[in-house]
Amino acid sequence: MKKTYQEKEKEKNLKLIMSVLKKKRKVTKLELSKKLNLSIPTVTKFINKLLNLGIVFEAELSESSGGRRPLVFEFVPDSLLSISIKLELNYLQIALINLDGNIIKRKTINKNFIENKDIIKILIQEIKIFIFEIGILKEKLYGIGISIPGIVSDNELLLKVGTNFKLRDINFEVLQNELNLRVHIENEANCAAIAELFKNKNKNISNILVISIGTGIGAGIIIDNRLYRGQEYRAGEAGHITLYPHGNKCNCGNEGCWELYCSDTALIKQFKNVFPDINSLKDIFSNKITCTKEFQELIKTFTSNMAIGIRDLMLIFDPNKIIISGDICNYSKYIKSDLELLALKTTNFYDTSNKKIEFSSYKSDANLIGAGILAFSDFFSF
Ligand SMILES: [Zn+2]
Repeated sequence: MKKTYQEKEKEKNLKLIMSVLKKKRKVTKLELSKKLNLSIPTVTKFINKLLNLGIVFEAELSESSGGRRPLVFEFVPDSLLSISIKLELNYLQIALINLDGNIIKRKTINKNFIENKDIIKILIQEIKIFIFEIGILKEKLYGIGISIPGIVSDNELLLKVGTNFKLRDINFEVLQNELNLRVHIENEANCAAIAELFKNKNKNISNILVISIGTGIGAGIIIDNRLYRGQEYRAGEAGHITLYPHGNKCNCGNEGCWELYCSDTALIKQFKNVFPDINSLKDIFSNKITCTKEFQELIKTFTSNMAIGIRDLMLIFDPNKIIISGDICNYSKYIKSDLELLALKTTNFYDTSNKKIEFSSYKSDANLIGAGILAFSDFFSF
């Protein structure tokens, strides 16, 4: 159903108020009114709504130079919580997220989902168990956000193509009805980008490129503080840009795709060819491997391949900031300086002196956190 102009304005104002609250933590009606150019009666309506939801409470009276002291409203980040799901090929993470985007509780379930047609049934069951185990009141749960490596349409609650899953056209509506909670689904790199945007808001950073590295590579694109999803929700499938024409064969049907050289899966494979016992990033970055000559060479090639992809994306999007998320962030010290040197090399017409490459402080949790924030999309814009 299309929203009316009034409904859109209301939604916009609520989100503006939430953004001020989140930053300042305590506000008076007058402060909100002045800052957002809204009338006191309008601010009062919104504050009453937030009081009803428990998102703010009347705190102690603020200092005043004389006369009646105004009421102060304080933000309560734990007043509403969301359930966040990170769905990966061989595991599932469930977490409880608050309005600050902090993880309150979490658990991991190892299961193979690559071709699992029972995916919705399993999710319903695991979410019910999680809610029971944490013993949370259903009233405190605002919704569910799900991060998926694939092409998704949140409006239709549809996983269209699981790029590395062998799953297509999975509908999440059953899950929403069964659990009686509003469900949002989103591509995993987009979820990571939402988490970074949420953290970086109000810092004058409005164009962010998030490179999410996992079993594949995805990019979350933030333009002017909004997530760019593309015409058919396919924006940011950066793992499949061509790095080497006629290179390795990819399961997308093309050859030489970026993620065949720079995903976790690819890196593990490259090391396994030399060190057969290696099965994880943790194995790669263990003391006995990092001291070898082969390690230096393989990481050098990986970093250089990474830099080529990042440079290409920078030329297209010209972001303020490039953020890398994923498990690789735990080992950034082996990559960061070379990557910056190669990816941020200034050319004749592209000055990169004010560009930055960051490794996410959320590490491999960015998409899990972003999914939880997505469930609060009535309160925040992205
Ligand atoms: Zn490909």
